[in-house]
Amino acid sequence: SSNKIVVANWKMHGSLALNQALITGYLHGLQSLPQTDVVVCVPYPYLPQAQSLLSSTRLGWGAQNLAKYEQGAYTGEVGASMLQDFGARYVIIGHSERSTAYCESDENIAEKMMVAKRHGLTPILCVGETLLEREAGVMERVVGKQLETIIRLFGGEAFAGAIVSYEPIWAIGTGLAATAEQAVAMHQFIRDTVASADKSASASLKILYGGSVNPQNAVQLLNQKEIDGALVGRCSLDVEQFIKICQAVP
Ligand code: 13P
Repeated sequence: SSNKIVVANWKMHGSLALNQALITGYLHGLQSLPQTDVVVCVPYPYLPQAQSLLSSTRLGWGAQNLAKYEQGAYTGEVGASMLQDFGARYVIIGHSERSTAYCESDENIAEKMMVAKRHGLTPILCVGETLLEREAGVMERVVGKQLETIIRLFGGEAFAGAIVSYEPIWAIGTGLAATAEQAVAMHQFIRDTVASADKSASASLKILYGGSVNPQNAVQLLNQKEIDGALVGRCSLDVEQFIKICQAVP
């Protein structure tokens, strides 16, 4: 096994009926891919459904966000222990669709990452630059700052066993994925940044690519040794396309 991992991020899509069809389709398609690690991150209300459909399978499941607090008077928030109650082992943190729309700061994201880790959930930390930032050539500075906030507050060991997903904002939902070359360069930068804070944490870190991953570009992206997997939005809502992406794992 290459230990690469493909994560479906359904975002705010789905229904009991659609989820059942997607998950059944995933499980069927993955029968011939016994080595591929797959995780599906569902909207909160569907965690019990994911748990009941996936418990006796090798697919993992998780959520798309969590509260930075353990519990308390935080209306509308969902805490790590609640995710654990439904068997979630993964949680996406700091997705740009949240950090932009809900003004999530790097400090908040850092705290969420540590709450997840305290509960034994694997955080899938999203980082990435805007198009303007890439055009200005400051993408490494931007991603570096996102990582450094965590390192400054909690040390490099925060990344031990974690997952970072490089998701350039210009590539999310646009059909314009990063090239393998662009992704590899950023993945190397991410690993080096974590390594300079904590070498062993960096060795146990998985770095995924996300942003318009499709069956066509998945082959080249997933064959890079620096790319440990993919975080898939739109194409995870189509069984055939999602399975093709999983098949691209070498
Ligand atoms: P798309 O695959 O739809 O571009 O979404 C990527 C993403 O945001 C995954 O978290």
